[in-house]
Amino acid sequence: MLDRSVTARDHTYPAAGLDVVEAVRDLSSRELAPIVRKIDGEGHYPEAVLRAFGRAGAFACHLPGETAGGGDLVTAIRAMAAAGEYCLSTSFCMWCQNALGWYIFASDNAELKTGLGRRVAAGDALGGTALSNPMKTLFGIEPIRLKGKRVEGGYVVRGALPYVSNLGNDHYFGAVFEADDAPKRFVMAIVPCAAAGVELSGDTKFAALDGTRTFSVRLRDVIIPDPLVLADPSDAFIKRIRAGFVLLQAGMGIGLVRGCIALMNQVKGPLGHVNKYLDVQPEHLAAQLGTIAAKVDRLAATPFESDQAYWRAVIEARLALSELALAAAHAAMLHCGARGYIANATAQRRLRESYFVAIVTPAIKQLKKMLADMAH
Ligand SMILES: Cc1cc2nc3c(=O)[nH]c(=O)nc-3n(C[C@H](O)[C@H](O)[C@H](O)COP(=O)(O)OP(=O)(O)OC[C@H]3O[C@@H](n4cnc5c(N)ncnc54)[C@H](O)[C@@H]3O)c2cc1C
Repeated sequence: MLDRSVTARDHTYPAAGLDVVEAVRDLSSRELAPIVRKIDGEGHYPEAVLRAFGRAGAFACHLPGETAGGGDLVTAIRAMAAAGEYCLSTSFCMWCQNALGWYIFASDNAELKTGLGRRVAAGDALGGTALSNPMKTLFGIEPIRLKGKRVEGGYVVRGALPYVSNLGNDHYFGAVFEADDAPKRFVMAIVPCAAAGVELSGDTKFAALDGTRTFSVRLRDVIIPDPLVLADPSDAFIKRIRAGFVLLQAGMGIGLVRGCIALMNQVKGPLGHVNKYLDVQPEHLAAQLGTIAAKVDRLAATPFESDQAYWRAVIEARLALSELALAAAHAAMLHCGARGYIANATAQRRLRESYFVAIVTPAIKQLKKMLADMAH
C-alpha cells in the first residue's frame, strides 16, 4: 500500500529545505557509510537506503509545482552531495531517481504526475533515465538508438541502449525515440521495465559505480501507450529540462570533492609534515568548490531559463566540477599515500569514482564540444 502522504490529493511531503539535507546526512552516516565497501566491491544496490532517502523527502523537493516553494533544485543537489560524500554509486542512483521525477513533473502529463510521479517522488517507485544517447544525438555526437512506430493509442518501440542505471524489474525510466510517421520527430516517454519486450541484461563489471544496477536495455517492440508520453514532439521539452538534468548532477561532484577533502584532512595528523609540500592542499580545493557550488546554487534557482548565456554557464559549471572532481581525487591519492593505495582504501575508490563524474553524459569531451560549437 502506498504512503498516504503521496497518494492523497492533498498530499504533503515529509520535510523541506535544510531538513531534507540533514535527514539525508544523518541516514548516510548511519546506514550508508557501513555498506560503501559492499556497494563498491560486491556491486550491492543500496535500495533500502534509497527508499529511506525517498521517505525523507530527498526525491520530491526539486519537482516543479509539487512542493511548497516548488522546484527547489538546490536542496536536491545538497541532499545528493550529502550521500556523495560517502558513495558516488548512491549519489548517482539518487540523481537517476531525481531525473526521472524531473521529467515527469516538468511535463504536461497530469495523469503521470499524480500517479507514477508521486510514487517516484516518495521513493516508492524507483527508476532512472536513458537520456545519454539522445543528449549525444541532439549535440551531433551519435545517432538515436530507439525507433518508434505510431500505432492506435501509442507507439511500438524497439532498439537497444548500452547502459541505463537504477533499474530493476519493477522500475521505470525516461527515454527518447524517433517516431516513424510524419513529421520526423523525437518523442519522450516513460518505459516501465515490466512492459512486455523490455529486456535488462547486466553482466558488465565496471571500474566503479557497480552498485548502481546498470543494465544494457533492449526494447523488442515494446508498446508505449499515449498516457506514458511526456512530450511529442520532444525537442522543446528536452531544451526545457536539460539545464535541470545537468545541474542536478552537481550533487555527485560536490559530494565526491568533499569526500576527498575529508580524506586529506584525516591524514594531516600523521602526514601533514610532508603533505604540506604537495601542490594541491585541501584548502585550495575547498575554495574552488565553494566558488563552483555558489555558481551552481545561483543557476539552479532558475532551471527553466531559456537564454543561451544561461545554458553556457550551466555547461561551464558542470565542466568545472568534473575537472575539480578529478583533481580532488588525484590529490587525495597523493595525500593518503600507501594507505590510500591498498585494495579496499577509500582514496583509490574515490579516484575510480571520480572518472564517472567526468564520463557520464555530458562527458568532459561532450561539454567541451558544446562550448566549442557555441563559439561559432
Ligand atoms: C556505470 C555507468 C552507468 C551509466 N548509466 C547511464 C544511465 O543511467 N543512463 C544513460 O543514458 N547512460 C548511462 N551511462 C552512459 C554514460 O552516460 C555515457 O554515455 C557513457 O559513459 C559514454 O559516454 P561518452 O560520451 O564518453 O561516449 P563514448 O565512451 O565515446 O561512447 C560512445 C558510444 O560507444 C558505445 N559504447 C559504450 N560502451 C561500449 C563498449 N564497451 N564497447 C563498445 N562500444 C561501447 C556506446 O553506444 C556509446 O554511446 C552509464 C555509463 C556507465 C559507465
